[in-house]
Amino acid sequence: MKICLFGGTFDPPHLGHLILAQTIYEAEHFDQIVFVPAYKSPHKDRSVVSSVDLRKKMVKIAIQENPNFVMSEIEIDRGGVSYSIDTIIDYKKKTGTDSKKLFYLIGSDSLKTFHSWRNPEQILDECQIIVAIRPGFRPSDIDNKILAKIQFANIPRIEVSSTEIRRRWIEGKTIRYMVTQQIWEYINEHKLYL
Ligand code: ATP
Repeated sequence: MKICLFGGTFDPPHLGHLILAQTIYEAEHFDQIVFVPAYKSPHKDRSVVSSVDLRKKMVKIAIQENPNFVMSEIEIDRGGVSYSIDTIIDYKKKTGTDSKKLFYLIGSDSLKTFHSWRNPEQILDECQIIVAIRPGFRPSDIDNKILAKIQFANIPRIEVSSTEIRRRWIEGKTIRYMVTQQIWEYINEHKLYL
């Protein structure tokens, strides 16, 4: 099996995430894209993050109609700060996936800070990093040693982010077409982000 882990906060999951995952799935001939909601992202301020249960439920809803997308609760079960290196090692142990068959997907915005992640060199050894190019990305911002070891993927540029969605929701603006209808209903029903 050729697997791609896709970690994120998913607060909420949006069409940018889904289109990215589907594009990568098809272009790179993956068997599965594994969405991995973070228990606690090392990169994000805790105060803006919805509870793990709410985010987990939203990811489940967002991917439920796609048989090629699954969710792993590996970071939620582990608890604590969700370091990618721990997730990659745990996932390989649990599933026996080989380093060459295990990919880890990140947006190019996240790549800018990759050198400051926990054990970046080890991440590059334990799996293949695949980077989705987002607007504003300049390869010159990235260390050559890292550039040499990663793979880039072109994706349709869908400039929507969870931050923008939360902001729009708070301001009473529409988030239609930014999230699926079922996610819209979930946010509305559970009075998230207010
Ligand atoms: P936030 O605005 O809260 O920081 P986000 O929209 O960036 O959230 P995350 O859950 O943090 O969403 O994202 C998980 C991964 O998805 C990251 O690697 C991020 O770069 C990538 N990503 C998010 N939105 C898009 C998008 N519109 N296009 C491509 N990649 C995206």
